[in-house]
Amino acid sequence: MPCLAKLKLSNWQISVNTRPHLLTQAQPRREPPIDQPKGRTGLYYRACMSSYRPKFICAEPTCRRPIKPVYDPDKFEYRISEFQDWAVRTLEERSPGLAAAYRNSNRMNSGSNRGSDELATLIRLQQKQWDNPASISEEEFEFLKARDPQLWWTEITRMPRISGVPEINMVRCPGCGKGVKRVGSNFRVPRKRDQTAWKAIEEMIERGEDMVAKFSFCATVEEHERMVKIAIELRSKVR
Ligand SMILES: [Zn+2]
Repeated sequence: MPCLAKLKLSNWQISVNTRPHLLTQAQPRREPPIDQPKGRTGLYYRACMSSYRPKFICAEPTCRRPIKPVYDPDKFEYRISEFQDWAVRTLEERSPGLAAAYRNSNRMNSGSNRGSDELATLIRLQQKQWDNPASISEEEFEFLKARDPQLWWTEITRMPRISGVPEINMVRCPGCGKGVKRVGSNFRVPRKRDQTAWKAIEEMIERGEDMVAKFSFCATVEEHERMVKIAIELRSKVR
């Protein structure tokens, strides 16, 4: 299976990346993650900027709604993996707390701080958190957070398919405040009054079905190539 399929169509020579993560053998060189561009160029962010935002649902009978995280790089910084796993934090210039955490982190790493009690506490708590994150008290976490900018990230989705770690949702429903369920991009949200459809969804959640895999469209390499071909043809017609 080629990792890079080259489609030559008249004057077009295009390298198409065909899902290298599905390959079992040689891994192609990975491009570094694309920096999320900042600022609007018009009413919308350019090219959707993130073509796919993770989708969640709240199946509570009073809510029955979809939830998607906002995307606003004027206010937030995003870390989006190639598998569309999301983490978000407020921009440093908009968060005095995060700016202070950066300053403290530099201070901790400076030579003059060597041997200080503060550094010793930091190292001890970092080790404690590494060994057992659940053992960290709120006060201890605040101490760590004030000195570590990385702790300011909120994971919206984790990487369950890569790490094997169960998906941990930190997204809450804005309607009822309860936890929400992540679903694939293909998931169609039924009407709120459609009891039958929502009952079926509740049962799926109860059974512990993988709602991301179940409602994701994943084309085969051949289908993908065909789609690219059609897209190129359509594009040439528009010109
Ligand atoms: Zn809700």
